[in-house]
Order: sequence, then structure tokens, then C-alpha cells
Amino acid sequence: MREFRSQALAPLLGLWCGLLTGTIALIVQFGLLGIAHLTSPSPLGLEVGWLNAPLIDGAFFGGVGFMLYFAASRLRWLVSFRTVAFTLCFLVFVSLLFLIPGIAEYSVVLLAGGAAFQASRAMTTHQAALARVCRLTLPWLLVMAIGSATWNVGGPWVAEVTGRRALPAASTQAPNVLLIVLDTVRAQSLSAYGYEEPTTPWLERFAKNAVLFEHALSTSPWTLPAHGTLFTGRMPRELSTDWESALDGAYPTLAELFAARGYVTGGFVANYDYASTRTGLDRGFLRYDDHTGLKGVFGHTYDSRTRTSSSFGRIGTARMRRILDAWSRKDAPYLNREFLNWLAHHDERPAFAFLNYYDAHSPYSYPDSYDAKFRSKRTGARGEDRLDAYEASIAFLDDQLRDLFQQLDRPDALRNTVVIITSDHGEQFGEHGVARHGNSLYRQVLEVPLLVAFPGVVPAGERVGEAVSLRDVAATVLDLAGIDSAEKMPGQSLRRYWADRAVERREPLEPIFSEVSAAIRQPQWLNSNGPMVSVVENGLHYIKNFGRNKEEMYDFLNDPAETRNVIDAPRGQSRLPHFRSRIGPDAIAGALQEVSR
Ligand SMILES: [Zn+2]
Repeated sequence: MREFRSQALAPLLGLWCGLLTGTIALIVQFGLLGIAHLTSPSPLGLEVGWLNAPLIDGAFFGGVGFMLYFAASRLRWLVSFRTVAFTLCFLVFVSLLFLIPGIAEYSVVLLAGGAAFQASRAMTTHQAALARVCRLTLPWLLVMAIGSATWNVGGPWVAEVTGRRALPAASTQAPNVLLIVLDTVRAQSLSAYGYEEPTTPWLERFAKNAVLFEHALSTSPWTLPAHGTLFTGRMPRELSTDWESALDGAYPTLAELFAARGYVTGGFVANYDYASTRTGLDRGFLRYDDHTGLKGVFGHTYDSRTRTSSSFGRIGTARMRRILDAWSRKDAPYLNREFLNWLAHHDERPAFAFLNYYDAHSPYSYPDSYDAKFRSKRTGARGEDRLDAYEASIAFLDDQLRDLFQQLDRPDALRNTVVIITSDHGEQFGEHGVARHGNSLYRQVLEVPLLVAFPGVVPAGERVGEAVSLRDVAATVLDLAGIDSAEKMPGQSLRRYWADRAVERREPLEPIFSEVSAAIRQPQWLNSNGPMVSVVENGLHYIKNFGRNKEEMYDFLNDPAETRNVIDAPRGQSRLPHFRSRIGPDAIAGALQEVSR
């Protein structure tokens, strides 16, 4: 009888263990952030779910405790108090040991097992003392858990309400601006850009009412610097954005300029890793949603996300990883709802909205019904399953954009709206021996979609063949919104490509620069030893890898897959001095600085 009563404590003991684990995890995270000077956008950053870790852990461990209690009530002879204590302690130690980076899974299991064995023995011997400690500390742990969760949810809400009240009056003529970034979507995989598979039927239709830039190049092959450029019009090397540093306040952002003109500003972000609040990209936004409510908070808590998807996921199947990833991911339908809700509730003010869709970022996310859509007709070569999944995720995203615009069209909301659809970077599938992004400056990772629509101002159905840089997007947005002020963004409005169509000769092509700093902890990446810079000019693409002291050159017009390095051909040799001068002293000095870092 005594045993059964002790086991009845299991749910309470579970709750207590969870609150304690979550609180310790939270304190450790704050400590690590303190060491990292609070600006680190590295995976150590403070996730929204972290603040709720005690609550989520409490619920999770409490649930385990309840199951143990249930098992004990049925199988009293098998599930003793010692078993209950061991199981809970094991979970506590596993959770806490996983906070130590780089520790192997089997070591975690062995250490946690040993520690849980000792702790459960002590707990069984001193059950009365344990019950006393639980009773005394449980209310405090609960108060702290609820307090941190309230601050987490309530803080941004208070900031938005007070921010709105402080907005100046807006011009009645001011158009809305909608900046859509399809994270990781490369131009060459889109049917709107001539790809043979029907990945983007909606985008093809949208292009009929827009100017489509056939060769838009990002300034960076990965999220944070590319978004930094989109928001500030600055090259990555001018910005503080890097693998472990956020965007600082050195330059104004689009959102800040719009807010200063009385716009309501909202960012709806599905890329938590490098576009979340802690990356500094939220500056100027009154609302910046980078999590998915309760589901995302749960999914983001260390216990359920990091551990399950990285440790568990590593040994699990791709399907298992997708299921786990889906727990924490903000998919396009969710993002659409989030944005439309916000739009429905904002007043008469013009709106500047930024949407970042993450569905086409690995692990590629789409409903099962899209699975067979692009099942490979190519066979054998590596990376093809990934490419099929990538295309399926793009097709899904395209359908979601169609839904979004159908809803926006209904109240004629788009009549006075500038719409920009682009991406921050592309993706690689083994081309040049590299996969994913952030690790090279080839076309696959730099060339992105860029479509600009503004009924009555921007011509419909025009395609611009000249190569352009995403660096000019910020200046274009300000130009189309009619904002001409001292705080003008660097770069030039892309209007020059569609205006004066009658004029035979336009401005000569400008060189287009892209760059990536030295990778950290990624020995396989092409930029592992140092930064890389690339220049597109006069129909050639020149790439310099400073770390490996390697130069390449490709025919931009006739070799989009960049399969033939023409640097040793007469044409390449004759242009080499010019390109070297293009990346000249400034770029090299910057590069050396990166190397010595
Ligand atoms: Zn990205």
C-alpha cells in the first residue's frame, strides 16, 4: 500500500522534474547568450520556445509521470517507485546533458543512466524529504514558468500597441508594399523561368501582370546577409551580418523608413534560424512573427525540437525527420493565415509587409499529395530524390501563393500595392560537388526569381533580360512607394530597366557582385578557408575563392549550369585583369580581414 501511494506522486514528481529541467535549461541559455554578447544568431540564440521551456517541459514530464502512475496502478509488482524515479531522473539528465555541445549520444545515455541510477536510489531512500522539497519549490517553479511565458508572449504585444500609437500620420496616397521572399528558391527550378517541369503555374500567371527579371542575382548565398541587403540596399561586407553576428543598427532598414512615414509594418517569418528576431532583421517592424503560436513554441522547446530532430533524426528515416520537422515548422498556409489576420486588423494606414516562406528550405516541406508530382524521371545520380522533393515543395509554395493572392484580391486590396516576389538565395544539388547553400557562389545558389508588380505603374508582362542585383531591390521599393528623401537607400531603382522602353540603348550593364565570408566549422564547404567574391559583367561570371586561392570564369549567357571554366581560354585570359581589378583592394582587404578573424 505504501508503494502505491508513493507511485501516486509520479505525475507531481514529473511536473516538478520538468519545471526544474526547463528552468535550468533557460538559465544555461541566458548564460550562453551572455557569453555570446547577446547578438549571436547562431543556434545558441534565444528561441521564443526557450522562454516557455519550463512550462513545456513541465507538461511533458508531467505527462510521462502520469503514464508511469497509470502503469503502476495496473502493474504494481513491475513499476515500483524506484522505476518511476529512475525514468524521470533519466529524462532530466538526458535533457540537461544535451545542453553540452558536441557530446556524443551514447555518452549522454550512459552518463544519464548512471546518474539516474544513483539519484533514484537516493530518492527512494529519502521519499519523505523529496516530497517536502517538491511541495516547497513547486509553487515557485510554476510562478517562474508562467512569468517567463507571459513575458514572452506579452512583451511583443505591448511593443506593437505602443509602437502603433507613436506612428506619425501617413500620406493618403501611400501604396501598400508587400515584399515576399521565397527562402531558398532558385530561378532555374521555376517554370516561370523556363524550367521544363510545371513547378510554378501561378507565378507564370502572376508574371503576366508584372515585370520579371530573368537574371536576378543575390548578393549572398545564404539567408541573413541576403535579407540584410534586401532591407538596407547594402552589400554583405558593409553589414554586420555574419554566421555568428546579427544585423546591427548602422544603417536604416526599409521597415524603419516605412514606419517613420506612418506605415504599419509587419514581418511574418518562417525561417527561424537566420531570419528570426535575434538576427536583427526585425528592426522597424511593429509586428514580427517568427514563431507559430503554441505548436511552434512546443516544437521549439529544446526537448522536443533540437534533441529529437538532430539526435533522433540523424538515425531516423527521412520521413521521420519530416514528421519531427513539421512540428516546429511554420508552413505556407500558416504564414498566409498569420499575415491575412494581421492585415484584416490593421487600420486605414498603408502597410509594409515582409513574408518569408520556408517550405522550399531543406528538409523540404509539402503535403504527401505532392510527393509523386515530380518523382524522378532522372535516374541513378546522387541528389535526385532531394531535387524531386525540392520541386514538390516549390509547387506547394506556388499553390499557397495562389491562395494568398486570391484572398488578397477579394477586397481589391492589391489595387494600390507594390508587390515584390523574390528569394534570398538558391540551392545546390551536387553541382560542382556541393549541396544546399552558403558554401559557394555558383549560379544555382545566386540566381533567384525577381518579379515586381504595381498595377498602373509597373508594366504588365514585361521580361528584363539584363542581369540585375538584389542590391537594388530596396531602392526600387522606396522609388515605387514614392519615398524620396535623405535616407535614400544605396543602389538604384530597377525602374530604369522598364522605363524608357523606346530608348534604344539603355545604361551599360553594371558589374554585379556577390560574396560569402569564410564558413565556420564547415571543413567541406568551398569557403571553409576564406571568403569568396563573384562578379558578373559583360556576359561572364568570375568567381574568386580567397581561401583556396582559386579563380573560375563562366560564360554567363551560354553556360547557365556553369560547366565549362573558361578562365584559361583566350576570352577568359583577356578579361582576367579587368575582373581582378573589380574585386580590387577594397574587396581583398575585406577578405584578408575575414581570413585573419
Ligand atoms: Zn535563406
